[in-house]
Order: sequence, then structure tokens, then C-alpha cells
Amino acid sequence: MRDPANNDERIEALRQALHARGLVLTPQRRAIFRAVLDIGEHPTADRVHAALRRRRIRVSRATVFRTLEALAGMGAITKACHPGSSVRYDGRTDRHHHLVCTRCDRIVDFSDAKLDALPVPDTAGFGFRVNELRVQLRGICEQCREQEEKA
Ligand SMILES: [Zn+2]
Ligand SMILES: [Zn+2]
Repeated sequence: MRDPANNDERIEALRQALHARGLVLTPQRRAIFRAVLDIGEHPTADRVHAALRRRRIRVSRATVFRTLEALAGMGAITKACHPGSSVRYDGRTDRHHHLVCTRCDRIVDFSDAKLDALPVPDTAGFGFRVNELRVQLRGICEQCREQEEKA
């Protein structure tokens, strides 16, 4: 799922997508995109920023945030549901669903053919156009349940 060869392809695709918009894949943009793919756990902007600092890549928090928003706007990454107050970014753009822990805010990816096959409900009465159907299941993750049992 997170193999490096695939990441290289994703980075090349991003370079082309930026180029089509008259933008350049700067080392900063590349590092920020790469960090989302590498962290793989629906990181917040702060977490991406911290990961870059650990790699001694100098980039401001504002730039990280702006770049993540731009990448999401282009469809290079997605914005996940955000149970906490911070937006969570998702390196995966393919269809998948989320298990969300209401204790620790962990988001776990999962795929399920039955959920994929769910018909999109009629939302015309809300004036809302649905682009995709993703399901968020909320509960307690494995780690939190283990802690609970120990306590
Ligand atoms: Zn948890
Ligand atoms: Zn996800």
C-alpha cells in the first residue's frame, strides 16, 4: 500500500499536475507531499510539520498548512474526517472507508465491497450534490481497548 515505487509514481504525477497549473514541484512541496505518504496515518498539518523538522527540512508551519490545502484542492491528497479540531490529511485518494477511534482520534483505513456497493441516498431535497460516498465508522480502536482492559 505504501511501497516506495508507488510513492515515486505519485510524486511524478504531482509534478505533472503542478506543471499543468503553471506551478513547480519545489523541494518543499515535494517534502510535504512525501511526508503525508510516509506517515500514512492521516496526519494533521502539525504532525507533517514536526516530521519535516525531524528531517531538518526548514519550512514554516503556515507553508505546510497552505501546501496541504493546495494539494487537497488539486486532489493529490484528500482531507479526512476530523473528529478532533484539526484537519486530517490522507495520502490515499482511492476509495476507502475509515474506522475512527473516539478516544484517541486514530483513523484506520479499511475497504469493504459491501460499503462500496451502497447506493447513494437521494439528497436532492437538501440541494446537495454528492460526489462520493465514504463511510466513517466510529468506535474504540484496538490499542485503546487493550488499555481499557489493563486498567
Ligand atoms: Zn484509540
Ligand atoms: Zn484514509
